Amino acid sequence: MLATGLLCRMDDRLKIYVDRLKDGHTEKIQLDLPPNFLEVDEAELCFNENIAVKGDIYLAQNDLILHLQLDATCSALCAICNEKNEFPIAIPSIYHVEQLDDIKGAVFCLESLLRETLLLEIPPFFECHQGQCPGREQLTSFLKKDVEKVKEEEGINPFAHLSFKDSKIVENS
Ligand SMILES: [Zn+2]
Repeated sequence: MLATGLLCRMDDRLKIYVDRLKDGHTEKIQLDLPPNFLEVDEAELCFNENIAVKGDIYLAQNDLILHLQLDATCSALCAICNEKNEFPIAIPSIYHVEQLDDIKGAVFCLESLLRETLLLEIPPFFECHQGQCPGREQLTSFLKKDVEKVKEEEGINPFAHLSFKDSKIVENS
């Protein structure tokens, strides 16, 4: 299980005080968070821009309900041309339910929820120009040549140079 609510190394804006919601109101949040809490900073993938989070948080009986929207931009390499580009990652609807009994000290921290959710949304590869990388054309002609080459070679029997007619079974005596 996710250790949500335990870690809150960041700013107070990520802390949700459950007691303040007990009157039944919905808390609207709108945050602009520095990306360092994601702890993703590699040559091939990093976050340089702030992460925007907004949504509603409220209580329903014994649960804390979070309904959030997240927008981020990551800097990553295009899988086709290998150039570094900025790629948006938008999560239009994060719906999270946390039992009040599981929230230590009645303070729920958004940090790990946001982090885990966003990291799961990072696609396995990126392509620049909204999936229309200019390097694609080059790659396609390159692949075509490869396919043609394989087709040419398919007609050749790879064992043709071997002659079995003279082979003998050598028995150990
Ligand atoms: Zn590209």
